[in-house]
Order: sequence, then C-alpha cells, then structure tokens
Amino acid sequence: ATPISIMVGVGRGARAGVLIKNAEALERFEKVDTLVLDKTGTLTEGRPSVTAIRPAEGFDEVELLRLSASLERGSEHPLADAVVRAAADRGLTLSEAAEFDSPVGRGVTGLVDRRRLFLGNARFLREAGIDVAPLEAAAEVLREEGATAIFVAIDGAVAGVLGIADPVKATTADAIRDLKAAGLRLVMMTGDNRTTAEAVARRLGIDDVRAEVLPQDKASVVQQLRAEGRVVAMAGDGVNDAPALAAADVGVAMGAGSDVAIESAGVTLLGGDLQGIVRARHLSRAVMGNIR
Ligand code: ADP
Ligand code: MG
Repeated sequence: ATPISIMVGVGRGARAGVLIKNAEALERFEKVDTLVLDKTGTLTEGRPSVTAIRPAEGFDEVELLRLSASLERGSEHPLADAVVRAAADRGLTLSEAAEFDSPVGRGVTGLVDRRRLFLGNARFLREAGIDVAPLEAAAEVLREEGATAIFVAIDGAVAGVLGIADPVKATTADAIRDLKAAGLRLVMMTGDNRTTAEAVARRLGIDDVRAEVLPQDKASVVQQLRAEGRVVAMAGDGVNDAPALAAADVGVAMGAGSDVAIESAGVTLLGGDLQGIVRARHLSRAVMGNIR
C-alpha cells in the first residue's frame, strides 16, 4: 500500500469511528479470517445488574446483599459494580471491608463486620475449600438464562448465589450477522462460566465458545489459533484482554474500554460497535488495492 492510500484509509476510518493506530493494522486486516470476541463489555453492555438473589437456608437476602456490596465496593469489575448498585437501589448502608484481595478472573475476598467473605465463581470458592454443592442447582438455572452466577461464602460456608445479567448490546446482533456474512470465523472467549457463555453465544449464533479462560490464558488461545494458520483479529475491552489484543494479528479495542486495552490494540472502535470491524476490513482491502 502507498503512504497516501494508507492516510486516506486512516482518515475514512476515523470519520466512521474506527481509529487505526498504525499502518500494519490496516494492512493486515484484509487477511484476517478469524475474529475472537471477548464477551463481557465487547458483545455485552458491560453494565450488568443483579437479577436474582438466592440465599442459602438460614441466610437473609438483604444481609447477603449488604455484606456482598460492602466487599465489592473495593473492586472495579463490572460485576462488582452491579452488586454495589443493587445495594444502593435498596438504600442499604454498607460496612468497611478489611484484608481485601481480588485474584483476577476469580472474585473477591475480605473481612466485613469481622466475617470472612468470598465472592466469585465456583472455582474460586472451591479453591478456598468451600463446598458450593448446596447451591449448584440454583446457580445452573441462572446460568441457563444467560446470567453469571456469583457465589457468596460467609465464614467458610456457602451463603447464597447472585444472578447477574449483562444485556447484549443493541448493535451486537446485526454486527455478528454481517461479520459472518463477510466470511469471518467467530470465536467467543470469556472468563465466564461455560453454561452462561453458551447461552449468550447461542442467542447470537456463535458456535465456537472458549469459556472459563483465565485472563493469563486469553493470549494463549489467540496464539493457538494463529499456530493453526489462522489470521486472527481479537476484540476486547478489559485490562484482562490486553495481552490477547497484543498477541493477535490485529487487536481491536472498544472505545469505552480500559486504557490498557486501547494501548495494546492497533484499532479502536469509538462507539464500541463491532460493525466497525466490517468497515475496517473493507478499508484494508481498498488500501491494499484489492477492490476499486
Ligand atoms: P470476562 O472474560 O467475561 O470479561 P473476567 O475474566 O473479568 O470475565 O472474569 C471472569 C469471572 O471471574 C467472572 O465471570 C466472575 O465469575 C469472576 N469475577 C471476576 N471478578 C469478580 C468480582 N469482582 N466479583 C465477583 N466475581 C468476579
Ligand atoms: Mg471484558
């Protein structure tokens, strides 16, 4: 591609809300045959809300939410935000948390009102030696509805499960249809539970789902696809997605996403509309002289 045609391509992209950071990203895009999509914040709004509270026997629903929110106040995860908002909506007064820790891709733990809390996925609680079996069936019902099930443990026993649902973006379904029509192979990748991820993927018509991927493994999934000979674009929004964005042939960050994601990507979609990927690919072909 000539420098002039690249400048024209970058300019056209910018007017359509597709910010192209470097010439290589624009040049490579036409060869992309596989698009890996992060779920939370990329396919979905990234603004989930609490849709169900299922306390274990002997636990109070309101107190469960109050303790959970007191701990989640220390986390910046969108799921944490949902829990804090649910408590605020009910006018609950939160307590201070101590010894706060949040292992990435797992959940949060800490002391609230001198009680040891764990909030997160089943794996996180099991690793802490907590038996989630009493609420596993309730959690599975929530997941089949496409919600994320967050377990809450208090002083070593499972105390409840929260259903947190994140609506699919209004623009996602159309974008997915067009990306498929453009011949791209779509892969959904998420740290979320398999049942939840598949419920969302099924609704969108995405067949290839890589679920329960830890943040540090997201880049390996991308590398593996490239090792199979695919040319991979990766779209994501989170700090967790940054290494995978950097590992892809082309990284695509959501404009509303974290700064780290944007820095790691060659392309940024200003409005967060995945339709921009169809446009970027089209521009790439024009710039590379493969269409008139
Ligand atoms: P995604 O890949 O969908 O953006 P993450 O890798 O950020 O998801 O998180 C993976 C999983 O870890 C979540 O689905 C949730 O079960 C758990 N998790 C992470 N952070 C928190 C938190 N602050 N509170 C509760 N659960 C959390
Ligand atoms: Mg995300």
